[in-house]
Amino acid sequence: MQSSLSLTNNRASSSREEQAPNAERTQAELAYQELSHRILILEIAPNDRIVEQFWAKKLQVNRSAVRESLTRLLGEGLVYQGERGGFFVSEMTDDEIHEIREVREILETAAFTLACDNATTKHIKEIEETCNDFANFVRKGYFTGAHEADLRFHHLLMAASGNSRLAHLYERAHIPLFQRKAALARTPLEDFIKTEKEHHLILEALRKRDKKLGVQHLRTHFNRGEKDALE
Ligand SMILES: [Zn+2]
Repeated sequence: MQSSLSLTNNRASSSREEQAPNAERTQAELAYQELSHRILILEIAPNDRIVEQFWAKKLQVNRSAVRESLTRLLGEGLVYQGERGGFFVSEMTDDEIHEIREVREILETAAFTLACDNATTKHIKEIEETCNDFANFVRKGYFTGAHEADLRFHHLLMAASGNSRLAHLYERAHIPLFQRKAALARTPLEDFIKTEKEHHLILEALRKRDKKLGVQHLRTHFNRGEKDALE
């Protein structure tokens, strides 16, 4: 399955064709996909203001498309409205971080168990490449790229389950990475190193098709992520 995350650049370039009758629709969809993705990978950090004009220009869409996508993101709780009407990225509360950890654990350990039966060589290769991307981004100090690779790792794991509905449900749920410390651009390097190691252990367990071991490593990964976020 092609990860939707890797399609964002294509979407940005296709937005320049504005002649189609449903161009308005397409622009709003593009703005929504781009903004939600950038929020999830913490490129736009919690409590950052999303300025309509700036994003309209950057994504090459009209301002009403950005506004429409912001209304949609507001409904999903990814953004909130400030006193004077501006839109800001939501910051997760402790309870939300905890709930997200539980949701991720439930969905991803289930997906891992299925993946042990269903993952193809291609799935495993893609996960391995994403692990390498993550390591390279960390080494270069490109942390937004590292967050993106982290998110992709988990989406690929869902896809490896072989259950496209499960993978789709996960994508549509916009499940964020644990933010907070990371959001403040102060994620210590050691957190990234830990993530890298944990991802490798999960990948190794998948290679061995060892359900119990993989589930154990996933739990460790999520527990550590939650703990670090709440610190
Ligand atoms: Zn991870």
